[in-house]
Amino acid sequence: MRRQRNVKIVATLGPASETYDTIRALHEAGADVFRLNMSHGTQDDIREKHRIIRQVEKDLDSPIAILADLQGPKLRVGVFAAGEHDLQEGARFRVDLDPAEGDDNRVCLPHPEIFAALRVGATLLVNDGKIRLKVTECGEDYANCEVVAGGTISDRKGVNVPDVVLPLAALSEKDRDDLEFACNLGVDWLALSFVQRPEDVHEARALVDGRAAIMCKIEKPAAVEKFDEILAVCDSIMVARGDLGVELPVQNVPPIQKRMVRRCRAAAKPVIVATQMLESMIDSPMPTRAEVSDVATAIYEGADAVMLSAESAAGNYPVEAVRTMDNVAREVENDPTYTEIINASRSVKGSTTADGIVAAAREIAEKTDIKAICCFTQSGTTALLTARERPGVPIIALTSVRNTARRLTLSWGCHCVMTEELDRFKMAVVNAARAARTAGFADTDDQIVITAGVPFNVPGTTNILRIAPCDERLILRTDPE
Ligand code: PGA
Ligand code: MN
Repeated sequence: MRRQRNVKIVATLGPASETYDTIRALHEAGADVFRLNMSHGTQDDIREKHRIIRQVEKDLDSPIAILADLQGPKLRVGVFAAGEHDLQEGARFRVDLDPAEGDDNRVCLPHPEIFAALRVGATLLVNDGKIRLKVTECGEDYANCEVVAGGTISDRKGVNVPDVVLPLAALSEKDRDDLEFACNLGVDWLALSFVQRPEDVHEARALVDGRAAIMCKIEKPAAVEKFDEILAVCDSIMVARGDLGVELPVQNVPPIQKRMVRRCRAAAKPVIVATQMLESMIDSPMPTRAEVSDVATAIYEGADAVMLSAESAAGNYPVEAVRTMDNVAREVENDPTYTEIINASRSVKGSTTADGIVAAAREIAEKTDIKAICCFTQSGTTALLTARERPGVPIIALTSVRNTARRLTLSWGCHCVMTEELDRFKMAVVNAARAARTAGFADTDDQIVITAGVPFNVPGTTNILRIAPCDERLILRTDPE
């Protein structure tokens, strides 16, 4: 699916977006990656959504990344008989270990370790901190609270206990089970929630065993402190502003976001800015000015992707929310100031042949009339390095490895195309020209830049840079075998 922008859109799927028609409409409107949240829904639900996405991918012949987001050691309330309740300021509310469905007086909080650590006066934050409960009395299996800030509480909303240090394992029993399930299903990205240390990533990576790429959600102060070490061992980052803004003062989030986006680009690893981007669009077809500005800011900063959570999973306007992000992205990326910012923040330190070739490809594309940079990539590394350059022309990532094509749909600017396995460079040039024309990036009389590695199919061999015409007859006539 050809996009008119470089930044990618991640849409979380949920009850508002579970049918084939909606998922297809979301992809057509601009969602490049679908996120399946393992905190909500059963494995059967996830399997069904996965099946539908793969069907859309096949029907539209357009690679799509699926991101499975593990719940992690996130604390959540149980479910309510009525699905939700309004909690009024000043009211009493109880949380306890009783698995029975909740009502407007109580709900289950199935985490004995919280009750072991809670003290009178501690604060429980529910739903990204929107609801604030103060503990007035507690025991080993309950806490009675006063509602300090009210709001709607509903099934499985997240709970944070910022005043209390909880001993949390990186992966719960449920996470291990979900990880195995998601990897067997064939998801492309696996997101780890509440990462605190690089060791958490090693543990997950050993279990994943190459079946998916690993994304770390940064949502704990400990992860912010160890960010560089965590970035070094994972494949991508999510700036998970929901929990981050609860675990830390909210005003700390924007500087952290800026710093992380820059570090990720320098490391050539994709970064998603997530949560509350278009929050008001859950109920309204129009975003607020502040939300539009927030999405624009993430794009100006150079993020690889912006994300929709409840807006696309449970809101009333999922397709409109995707369309809004798409419109904002196109406008920002057409602004000359955007190009200035992106060029000024380029910091390339690598010294491999591939680093040199991608930098040269960008320069050639900037100085002459080139319509696209076509890069042949097996592992995806060359495409990631090209994306780090943030060139002014589209990147066409050509690969014979389906998983590579899918994973790269998360990365800035990458238009992913499957090719057959190639063994001759001439045919690679023909394929690149064809891909550029088919997607509408170039015409027969245009030129493209091609990067590739010969011999083919050996990862890490990028050693060719070719400026080629898009006319196949010309290529066949003039190119060496
Ligand atoms: P969540 O993660 O939606 O799974 O909580 C994102 C965030 O915390 O921002
Ligand atoms: Mn979170």
